[in-house]
Amino acid sequence: MTEGGAERLAGIPMGERVLLLPHCLRPSQACPGRPSRDGLACPTGCTVECSIRALREEALCLGYKAVCVAPGGALALRFVQDAAPRAVVAIACAKELREGEDAARAFSGARPEVVVLALSRDGCVDTEVNLEDALRLLRS
Ligand code: SF4
Repeated sequence: MTEGGAERLAGIPMGERVLLLPHCLRPSQACPGRPSRDGLACPTGCTVECSIRALREEALCLGYKAVCVAPGGALALRFVQDAAPRAVVAIACAKELREGEDAARAFSGARPEVVVLALSRDGCVDTEVNLEDALRLLRS
């Protein structure tokens, strides 16, 4: 986790946070989701065991403003600019993290606090995140 991530989120209301998840967390063999202009679109009631589902449900239950499952940095940046949150909780690989930092430098709006949790298994397909750590971060 980004150093001091939970501390940096403290005091920022849930309704002023967004969650950004990487497309590669989907279980590629079983996932019925489809790409859309707003990121991966999951069918209502999808029951596949999936970190994306668990994290999205928890974030929305906690009152997060929005959740986006993004295939890349351009869509993620547009999502953050449109939502204009005070904080972004992001799960990302090292490459996306570097791209995100570059994009943040060019960010035109008020800059949100960005807290990143790194994937526990990297790669471009069927990646993994430590779900307990991610849920703890969302709730902090
Ligand atoms: S919840 Fe997971 S498995 Fe279901 S459509 Fe979304 S990403 Fe795919």
